[in-house]
Amino acid sequence: MWYFSNKLATYVGATILMFTGGCGARAVAPGNPPANAPTMSVAATLAQPPVPTFSGKDAFAVLKKQVAWGPRVPGTSPHTIELKYLQSEMKKYANATVLQQFSYRGIPITNVVGVFYPAQRSTPAKHPILLMAHWDTRPVADGPYSTATAAGPFVYGPNGWNRTDPIPGANDGASGVAVLVQLARMFHKDPPPVGVLLLFDDGEDYGDFRANNGKGEGVVLGAHYFATHYRQNPVFGAPAFGILLDMIGGKDMRIYPELNSVQFDPDLNQQVFQIAKSLGYGNIFRTDQSQDVDDDHITMNVQGEISTIDLIQPLPGPGALPGAYKQWHTVDDDVAHCSASSLKAVGSVITQLIYQQTP
Ligand SMILES: [Zn+2]
Repeated sequence: MWYFSNKLATYVGATILMFTGGCGARAVAPGNPPANAPTMSVAATLAQPPVPTFSGKDAFAVLKKQVAWGPRVPGTSPHTIELKYLQSEMKKYANATVLQQFSYRGIPITNVVGVFYPAQRSTPAKHPILLMAHWDTRPVADGPYSTATAAGPFVYGPNGWNRTDPIPGANDGASGVAVLVQLARMFHKDPPPVGVLLLFDDGEDYGDFRANNGKGEGVVLGAHYFATHYRQNPVFGAPAFGILLDMIGGKDMRIYPELNSVQFDPDLNQQVFQIAKSLGYGNIFRTDQSQDVDDDHITMNVQGEISTIDLIQPLPGPGALPGAYKQWHTVDDDVAHCSASSLKAVGSVITQLIYQQTP
């Protein structure tokens, strides 16, 4: 029941902020939205700032660029190239950049956090909105449709995981990063009304999800680090809430409400799906079914006590939902199976959510 008390605190906080006109990022109180919020119309009121247009095409270029470097597996050179890229992009666009560095089995793992101040402010928000995506890619192609899965269990070799090719990670890795980088460019040009953190977390997909009776070993490393260390960071405060983007670029993608997310933050989840529908993306954001995914957002909620939802294309396998990404954890998770229009849909929904916030 920990999340019940956590949620209660969120509600109380949001209610107080509504009445005091405070600067909390989550100005739209869950279940009690102001009159102008549900219309989702960009020009509904004069008080609402214009909502910029999210470019799916530019985001797709960022996806392609990453895939061209090769698999971004921790400890490899494409991983180092991407780290430098993320740092230089944040240097260009963010108000501040924070690196969280640690190591796993001697391999450096780095979270990159771009800090964006609220418009017309020269200090970070006390409770920014957190948008996150993992930037590393899986070292082994062990998905249910991988041709390599029949070869036996994975074990560590002297240089890490020792079997099969690593995945290109076009959807699983590059897609979420692509949307975040494009958002960074937008935030730089049109500063958002509230503070935002862009968290590029590392080491999500490195190890074995099934080890330790399903608790995993060597996975969700960066998100767990953030969840257990952000409180000590002097640059930014505790996020008001978070949204995880993981596999949001697949061709003909569908996204269903994720059950842990629904439990952790039903209102945020509903708000996101409502915005998607209002923007005409109801064909992608479906609410007729739901899915259950263990991902970075679990540790953000449990250890980090940050209400965080996960937007993710369904995983494939027996009983998979329509629109599942068959190329998940295979060497076919490539550019050809992704699309700019999927990035555009997700990027536009996030853009709308951010710019309709009240400072
Ligand atoms: Zn993955």
